[in-house]
Formats: sequence, structure tokens, C-alpha cells
Amino acid sequence: MPRVKTARMRGHFGGDGWPDGQWHLAEVHAFERLGRHILFDVSSMNCYETTPVVHAVVDAVRSKADGSAQLAGGRFPRHQIKQAVRQLQDRGILLPGAQSVPRARPKLAKRLGIRHLELMVTHACNMRCRYCYGSDDRDGWQEATHLYGARQAGMTWETARKGIDFLFQASGAQKDLSVIFFGGEPLVEFDLIVQVVAYVRDKERETGKQVGFSVSTNGIGLSQKVVDFLLAENISCQISIDGPPAMHDRNRVLATGQGSYDRVMLGVQRLIDKRPGRVPARVTVTAGQVDLPAVADHLMSLGFGSIHIEPVIGTAGALSLGNADLQQFETQTEHLAHYLVRRIKDGRIFNFSNLVRHVRQIRVVDQRLAHFCGAARTYVALAQDGAFYPCHRFVGMAEYRMGDLEQGFDDTLQRRILDLTVDDRPECRECWARYLCGGGCWKHSVDVHGDLARSDLESSCRLIRHQIECAMAINGALKVSDKELLSEAYERTAEPYRISEQGRQS
Ligand code: SF4
Ligand code: SF4
Repeated sequence: MPRVKTARMRGHFGGDGWPDGQWHLAEVHAFERLGRHILFDVSSMNCYETTPVVHAVVDAVRSKADGSAQLAGGRFPRHQIKQAVRQLQDRGILLPGAQSVPRARPKLAKRLGIRHLELMVTHACNMRCRYCYGSDDRDGWQEATHLYGARQAGMTWETARKGIDFLFQASGAQKDLSVIFFGGEPLVEFDLIVQVVAYVRDKERETGKQVGFSVSTNGIGLSQKVVDFLLAENISCQISIDGPPAMHDRNRVLATGQGSYDRVMLGVQRLIDKRPGRVPARVTVTAGQVDLPAVADHLMSLGFGSIHIEPVIGTAGALSLGNADLQQFETQTEHLAHYLVRRIKDGRIFNFSNLVRHVRQIRVVDQRLAHFCGAARTYVALAQDGAFYPCHRFVGMAEYRMGDLEQGFDDTLQRRILDLTVDDRPECRECWARYLCGGGCWKHSVDVHGDLARSDLESSCRLIRHQIECAMAINGALKVSDKELLSEAYERTAEPYRISEQGRQS
């Protein structure tokens, strides 16, 4: 562990092991997770595995009570308290003086420059998932302020072509670009996708730039022809699937109202057979349906390469997870975290991307997120009518429109979001997890508070912080080589539509 080398007052110790004088703490988060005691220094981003006595000392200093009184009663022997105090002093966590002098916040890298384009090739879909925010059938979304399924028409070739031209031009000197096909169900517009890919390949040759493609699909359109095309063009493909047949069919239904599992699996298996261990799954969990181990078991048995589980929270009415569901979600996440550690120790990957993304992040101390995702800064969605939005979930919301192909890209919102870093948002700037979280999903903030600057402390932040804690505990349990393996697996199968400043990550 790195040592802080500055000379500092260490003081004399009283008979109970407590140092004389007044002390305060640097900004730290101390917690117990997965049976491990972890101390996270927010400013240095160092994460330490510690002991109950270190946590007791931290609690005592934090409560501003007389430390010796707090630790009295023989809970810990004097030499242990003294050692814990020394460790905290050496690491720059326990500092002399009654209160902290406000420290300058680190300068955050605020990345700007469009290089990812989400093409909303259609709003039509061959399914009617009950929780879809793009659904025309408002089941479960009665209180949603916005439904983007209003226009069913597919994107015209003209709009798609102009969108690609925009991407190549707006990306300036940047060489690595990406195009994400989104919908509705994007494979409904397969012919347009083929046309776009051919056009992009020509532009790559002309400009020397490179474009990575991805598609997020319900799997129904994965015919042999489509799978062959995805493989030939190296297009990554994320599948929306909710677990075993009974769980999947509860919400993911066809237009007839029947469950879609059997239809979906025909195509999904075709793709997995060709890309074993490399296809990402995206799972949605609704109220009363929290059974993460069953979902993970099933999807791993099918050969998926990663599993991302997203709970419905916020404004989805009866579908949103309540407190009991959230608790269950957390408990089960911890079971999966233990399982992940056991499995990788046996030499097998379990790429539970909710946690692995943070394990990957924690490996690299000193990389602080300013924002959660690249929406509006490095990433924009192009709707069928030629208008730009920060991402697919904002499409149709006039307030978040960012110009269009005819009038030009309007960077007003881009500049606003750029300056809304975690250190500029009221709840985030006080949050220990801020530089690892980046501030949460913009659209979720708008749904819950109607304000980009606010956070959903009750649900979203609670889960994000819990997942980061789990990841820190996993980090302590794994060898460096295991973390490298997990990280590589994550990068191979990251979700296509969440692109942050660290590259592809959720
Ligand atoms: S967990 Fe919540 S409060 Fe903390 S940084 Fe993320 S969005 Fe902000
Ligand atoms: S995290 Fe939220 S704002 Fe960012 S791309 Fe995803 S849906 Fe959009």
C-alpha cells in the first residue's frame, strides 16, 4: 500500500492507545461487505482492506466524541488501537486538528467530441414488452412523461446517410468511432443496416477512420442470414433476455401476447454457437421478480459472455422495485459476488457486468469519472426525423433536442452537460462514490426529478453504491491476474449503448 511521506504530527498515546490532541479524518468511506472491512480514501482513490479496529477508530473520530471513551470497555486491546491509529496517520487518513481544511478538488478530465452515433433506425418492434419505455401500449408506464414509440416509421436511407456524414465530420481528428443501431427493434430495418454498414466501410477507406458497430436486439430477427452478416462485419450484438422461460415470458411478450422465449432462442442460439462466451445479455428485472441467481445460472448455461441486470426503478409505476425488492436485489448481488470470486478461483469467468465494470475501474487508481456516460458529449442519438438527442432514451423530448441534420447540431445542451460533472451536482459532490459512479444516468435524473443535476438517492444511488462496495470487496479477494482476466472479458462484451469517457463501459 502506498505510504504518505509528508511529516505529520503523530502525537503521544494515552493509556488506552488513543492519541493525545485533536484529530479529524480525510474524506473516507469505511464499510463491511462480503465479510471484508474496506476503507476507501475518496481523494486518493486508494482502497484498503482493513480490520474491525480500524473501522472502530474511524467511527470514533467521525462521531467527534472522545475517542478513548468510544473505544473503552476493552473492545480492542491497546496495542491494536495504537497500531490502527498509526496506520491511518501513515496513510494520510487521520489528520491533526479539530477539523479539515477544505481541499482542492481534483481536476476532472471532461471529454468532449462526438465519436459515437446511435441510429434510431426504427421505433417499430415485433414484441410488446410490458416494461418498454418505447412502448405504445402503456402497460406499466401510465405515469411516464415520455413514450418514444409514437412514430413507428423506419429511418430513411437519406437520414441515415446524412447521420453517418455528420459522425465523420463532427468527430474531427478522432479515428475510432462507433455506430450503434437502436430502436424499437433495429433488426426490423435489417436492409437499412446493411446499407449503412456498406456506406461506412467506404467512408473508412476514404478517411482512414475506423468504425465499430453494435446492435441491441430482442433476438427475434437473428436469422442465419442476419447472423452471417453480423459475423462477417464483426458487429457486436447485445441480446435483451430476462432469464429462464417462465421469467422471460412474464414481461417479454410477442404482439399476440404470448411469451417470446422460444422464438428468441432460435436466433440467439445461432449467434452464441458462432460466438461462444462473447455475446452480452441484458436483463430487466421488475417488481416481485427478483431472482438474480436463477437468471445468471440460466444465461450462463446458454453460453452468454456477460450478464448485465438492470432493475426497473423510478417512474415505472407498479413495475418499479420497492424497498423489499431492492433489499433482495442487494442480497442476491452479494451472493453472485461470492459466486464470482469462487468461480474465478477455479479458473472460470463469471462476467456479471454490474460488478465487473467496477472491479475493472478500481484496478486503475487515479482515473476519476466526471460523468456517468458519454451522452450528449461524445455520444448522440439520431432520431428518424433527423433530430439529435443525448441518447435513445431522450428521443422525442423537445427540451433535450440538440438540433437536427437540416439546421445543424446545437451544442447548448452538450456544453451544459459537460459542465455538470460530479463535483458540480449537489448530491454527487457529497457522495463518496462520485468519481467511480460519475453521477448516474441523465435520463433517470430527468425521470425522477425533472432535473439533470439531481440524483435518485433512494433507488439508483443506493444500488450503484452497493455495487461499488461489492466490487471493492471482490477486488480485495482476487489476484491481479484474475482481475485482468475479468477486465478483458468485460471489454469484449460491454453493453453497446453505454459509452463513457473510459471507453466502452456501462
Ligand atoms: S451514487 Fe448517486 S450521488 Fe453518488 S455520484 Fe452516483 S449519482 Fe451521484
Ligand atoms: S446511461 Fe442514461 S443518459 Fe447515459 S446513454 Fe444510457 S440511458 Fe442515456
